[in-house]
Formats: sequence, structure tokens, C-alpha cells
Amino acid sequence: MWVTNLNRLPTRDRLSSWGMQVPSCCCICTTEPESRDHLMLSCPFVLTLWAEIRIRLRCGVPNFST
Ligand SMILES: [Zn+2]
Repeated sequence: MWVTNLNRLPTRDRLSSWGMQVPSCCCICTTEPESRDHLMLSCPFVLTLWAEIRIRLRCGVPNFST
């Protein structure tokens, strides 16, 4: 999790910033540029996943924010 917190995931925006030729769109939803914040906070697939996790854990954990 610290890798995510420190924004060290090899997301496509970071790969592009290193000069790699990769598509910029999200590998899951393909609707927005792929970044840590998109993958963890705003990707439609991930939002559904977080909602399902909250239901299964039966806890009132609020949504993450930036
Ligand atoms: Zn996405």
C-alpha cells in the first residue's frame, strides 16, 4: 500500500513520463488517462469494487478522497 501512497505504481502516466511508448488510457475502463488517483479513486470499475468491499465488510468506511 505504501507504493500506492507514494505514487510509485507503474501506471501509464508514469510509464509515459519515463519515455515509454504506452497508451495513456486506463487499462480497465479505457475512458480516462491512467494514473494512481484514477485507478484508486475514480475508475468506474474500481468504484464498484470498493462498494462491494464495503458491503462485504459490513462497515461504514467512507469513500477515499484525494
Ligand atoms: Zn479506469
